[in-house]
Amino acid sequence: MTDNLMNAFPRTELVAARGEGAYLWDAEGRRYLDFVAGVAVNAFGHCHPVLVEALTRQANRLWHASNVFRIPEQESLAARLAEASFADAIFFNNSGAEAVDFSIKLVRKHFKGTATPGRWRIITTEGAFHGRTLAAIAASGQPKLTAGFEPLVDGFDRVAFGDLEAVRGAVGPQTGAIMVETIQGDGGIRVCPPAYLRGLRRLADEHGLLLVLDEVQSGMGRTGKLFAHEWAGIAPDILATAKGLGAGFPLGAVFSTAAVASCIVPSSHGSTLGGSPLGMAVGHAVLDIMLADGFLERVARTGAMLRSRLEELVRRCPGVFPEVRGFGLMLGLRCVPDARLMMGVLRRHGLLVAGAAENVIRLLPPLTIEERHVGEAMGALDAAAAAFMRQPDLVEA
Ligand SMILES: *Cc1c(COP(=O)(O)O)cnc(C)c1O
Repeated sequence: MTDNLMNAFPRTELVAARGEGAYLWDAEGRRYLDFVAGVAVNAFGHCHPVLVEALTRQANRLWHASNVFRIPEQESLAARLAEASFADAIFFNNSGAEAVDFSIKLVRKHFKGTATPGRWRIITTEGAFHGRTLAAIAASGQPKLTAGFEPLVDGFDRVAFGDLEAVRGAVGPQTGAIMVETIQGDGGIRVCPPAYLRGLRRLADEHGLLLVLDEVQSGMGRTGKLFAHEWAGIAPDILATAKGLGAGFPLGAVFSTAAVASCIVPSSHGSTLGGSPLGMAVGHAVLDIMLADGFLERVARTGAMLRSRLEELVRRCPGVFPEVRGFGLMLGLRCVPDARLMMGVLRRHGLLVAGAAENVIRLLPPLTIEERHVGEAMGALDAAAAAFMRQPDLVEA
C-alpha cells in the first residue's frame, strides 16, 4: 500500500523485509546478495553485531540531548575523525545533502571575514550529484533534479567534468571555491583522476580558493582509504560525508581546516538532531571496525579482486558490458542493454545493484564482503551477460 506516500522514487516491487551481512531477504523469503547496500550506506552489511550492540546499549542510556549541552560522545568522535583525516574541526548533522548544504554556507561565511568578502560563487562540475536541498540541486544543476524547483539558488558555475582548464577558465573575482565529488557516484562512477585532483588543489591555492570535496558516497572506507582523496595525496579545505559514516544510522558530517572553521561562532549554524548520542555511539562503533588494523587494506584488496574479475567479464562480453569504472568497492559497469533492464535480470539471478547515469550499474557492496561473495556476484553477472548474448533484444529474462 503506497497510497499515502509521495511518489518520489522509481521503486521496484522488491519488499525489503530482513537483512543479515551481505544478504537481503524479501517478504517471500527470497535471498539476495546486496551490492546496493543502501546505496553505499551499509558499510558492514546488515545488522552487524558490533553496531547493533552499540546502538542498543546507547538506546538504554541516552538517545538525544540538545546541543546546548556538552555531548561527550560527540567530542570524542570528532577527535577520532580529526585524528584520522585532514580535518581540524567537524560538524555533525543527519544526511549528505545537509552536509553539502553546510559546506556551501561555510564557503560563503569564510570569505565574509577575509580581505575578499565578495567571493561567494562555487565552481561545480557537470553530472554531479550533491543531494536534494535547494542549494544542493542548484550546485548539481542537472535538469532531472532542478526541474520545477526554480528559481534556483544562485552562485554556482558549472564546467565539464574532469577538465582542469575549464575550471581555470571559470575562475572569476567572485569565485570562492571549487566543489567536486572525488568520485561521481550517481553520475556513473566517474573517478576524478589523481592528476586532476592535484590540479584542482594547485589552482585553488594559486587563486586563494577553497577546495570542497563531496565524499558523501566515496568516503568512509569505500575505496580502501578513509577518504578517496587520500589516494591523490591531497587534502581539501572542506569535506562533506555521510552514507557510510553511520552505516545505516542517519549521520552526516562536515570536516574542515581550522582556518575555515573559525568563521563559525555560537548560533551561526546548528542542528537539532545532529550529533545525537545515539548517532555518535554508532559512529564510534563504525570507526572501531573501520580503523582496526588491516580493515581498509582488506577493502582495497577485495576491491582490486572484484575489479579484475569485472575486467575479465568485460573482455569476454564487451557487447554487454563494455567498460568497468571505479576502484575500491565503488565500482561501475557500463551496460549496452538498458541498465534498468539489466538490474531486473540481475535481481532475478539473486544480485542487487544500484543504477547510475550513463547507463551504468553500480556495485557498492558492504566493505566486509569476502571472496565467496565476489564469486557469487560474478556468477550472477555471468548468467545475465549470457542471457543477453543469447537474446540481444531480451526484454524478459
Ligand atoms: C547520496 C549523496 C548525497 C546526498 O546524501 P543524502 O543523505 O541523500 O542527503 C550527496 N552527495 C553525494 C555524492 C551522494 O552520493
